[in-house]
Amino acid sequence: MEKEKIEKFKKQLEERKNKLEEELSSIAKKDPLVKNDYDAKFPDYGTQSSDEEAFEVASYESNLSMEQALEIKLAEIKAALERIEKGTYGRCENCQEEIDEKRLEAMPEAKICVKCNK
Ligand SMILES: [Zn+2]
Repeated sequence: MEKEKIEKFKKQLEERKNKLEEELSSIAKKDPLVKNDYDAKFPDYGTQSSDEEAFEVASYESNLSMEQALEIKLAEIKAALERIEKGTYGRCENCQEEIDEKRLEAMPEAKICVKCNK
């Protein structure tokens, strides 16, 4: 792939990475002991009634699943940036063919081609 195009995808990936990290930090606190790991925040709405406690747990659970989804996406984007550094970006991890650029434009973190994704 041409260098200019890789640069373009790299920029897109970095923008997405920053956005995801922002979203993650709003719903989760970064675990200081584990690099690249986030813990969902346990919200504190007070514990006066059992109703509020139930709401707290539900909110924590939805934060947790959203946090996990964001974390997976972030990992994919970071892996794509690593492939750019290694010079393997744009190549299918499964069949080693070049991934269609249209696919990368829609999903710059794609690591396998359309054929292998089926
Ligand atoms: Zn493939």
